[in-house]
Amino acid sequence: MASTLPTSRDTFFIDGAWAKPSSSEMIDVISPRNEEVFGRVPAGQPADIDAAVAAARQAFDRGPWPYMTLEERAEILMRVVDEMRMRGPGIPEFLSGEMGGPMKMLGRGTDGSSFLIDHFIKLAREMGLVQVRQGAIGPAIIRREPVGVVGAITPWNGPLHMLMMKAAPALVVGCTVVAKPSPEAPLDAYIFADACEAAGLPKGVFNLVPGGRETGEHLVRHPGVDKIAFTGSTAAGRRVAEICGRDIRRCSLELGGKSAAVALSDASADAVAASAVPFGLAFNNGQACAALTRIVVPRARQAEFVEALSARVATLVVGDPMDPSVDVGPVIAERQRTRIEGLIASGSDEGARLIAGGGRPAAHNRGWYVEPTLFADVDNQMTIAREEIFGPVGVVIPYDGDDQVAIDIANDTSYGLAGAVFSADPVRAYEVARRIRAGTFGVNTFYIDPLVPFGGYKASGVGRENGKEGLLNFVEVKTVLGLAAEPA
Ligand code: NAD
Repeated sequence: MASTLPTSRDTFFIDGAWAKPSSSEMIDVISPRNEEVFGRVPAGQPADIDAAVAAARQAFDRGPWPYMTLEERAEILMRVVDEMRMRGPGIPEFLSGEMGGPMKMLGRGTDGSSFLIDHFIKLAREMGLVQVRQGAIGPAIIRREPVGVVGAITPWNGPLHMLMMKAAPALVVGCTVVAKPSPEAPLDAYIFADACEAAGLPKGVFNLVPGGRETGEHLVRHPGVDKIAFTGSTAAGRRVAEICGRDIRRCSLELGGKSAAVALSDASADAVAASAVPFGLAFNNGQACAALTRIVVPRARQAEFVEALSARVATLVVGDPMDPSVDVGPVIAERQRTRIEGLIASGSDEGARLIAGGGRPAAHNRGWYVEPTLFADVDNQMTIAREEIFGPVGVVIPYDGDDQVAIDIANDTSYGLAGAVFSADPVRAYEVARRIRAGTFGVNTFYIDPLVPFGGYKASGVGRENGKEGLLNFVEVKTVLGLAAEPA
């Protein structure tokens, strides 16, 4: 359905109302599909963040939101879900225009990921936020209480979904939220703010101020914030962790990746290609944190794997992401395309063999398109095997030796977000999955499931989003002594 959702905004959402910005500075949102202005939002300044945090603080400290029962919050939040569903049919096209994601991928997301609210309500009911336990000396009430005011900082590559992964569990357990979306894709967060307003979410419970790095850092440093839930690059995550560390502020970090698809000696080349190409090179135009970009294969069978992979790469349709037949659209920005092209050049310079792509598709000279690119004979020490490229580029890394050699290559990275192993023997594959240090692992398959935990080992992050673990991200545990049951 054609999107009629507004693409230009001139206010922030603070304290339940549309708030005038403190400055006249605006952010132009440029669509990567055609380099045209898609929309505009005001650029948040420290004073705007201060106002949003003050509203969230007041709504948390004075209530009623954190002191409502789960069912009272659920009733209001399900009205937000209804409002999101009403806006839903226009959301995929809106996102595609804003950040260039292919409609083929986005087309199913017609509720703006608000299903996560429903999911977390059900989980909270199931888990129970209050339990009575027997200690060594006496009974104790164990309360999972909301962590407080949450600063939610999100990237552009799955902007509304990443926001919902934070706002949904936070709001369900009773936190209040200040969202700071990225300057590249800030507009879709307004759809959620519209839904909160229309549903009558109490004022100050959800607040929205888009802006750049400095605006984000002001939020991270803000003494009125209890927890930062951050998704973005590892470089920015390090900075966020440093600042939070100084103040012992809680933070969860969902960062970058360089995930491996590991083919064991008995793996089917077609099965590897069927996961690694769509999920390494095509998904979100290669801009997925969990992309399987290192394809680790037995050297003796490299030619067979390269043939299967390149046959699939050849089927990828590159073009306007709004066209439902397109697999690979543009990358987010010109500077990002320049960076990807530099990394592709480094691959050839450092001795990798270019199998497919490597340039710009001739048919598209408006928009930031990069051909799906595949290298073979890659050594794991080469730049293209170490850096997160965040574009449609995959590398085939051949190995000699047994499964342990492949495991060592997969683990020889600073990241640990995801991965997959392929083998005809599930016992052998599962053993390899256990030994690779990554947060999400596929056995003969790969996908991201929004209802189970997701997050990174090592420099890919701290904490988990989604599932029960994602809900626990937003609670503190209080032990109440002296009572054997909650008073009625
Ligand atoms: P980015 O780090 O440049 O920005 C992410 C967000 O952080 C933006 O809102 C940005 O304004 C803000 N920001 C940047 N520096 C900051 C600072 N010092 N303090 C506070 N806020 C700051 O990342 P990006 O280019 O928007 O997104 C791509 C990156 O995100 C990739 O590295 C990708 O792997 C990662 N990512 C990770 C996951 C995950 O779940 N692990 C999911 C999606 C994207």
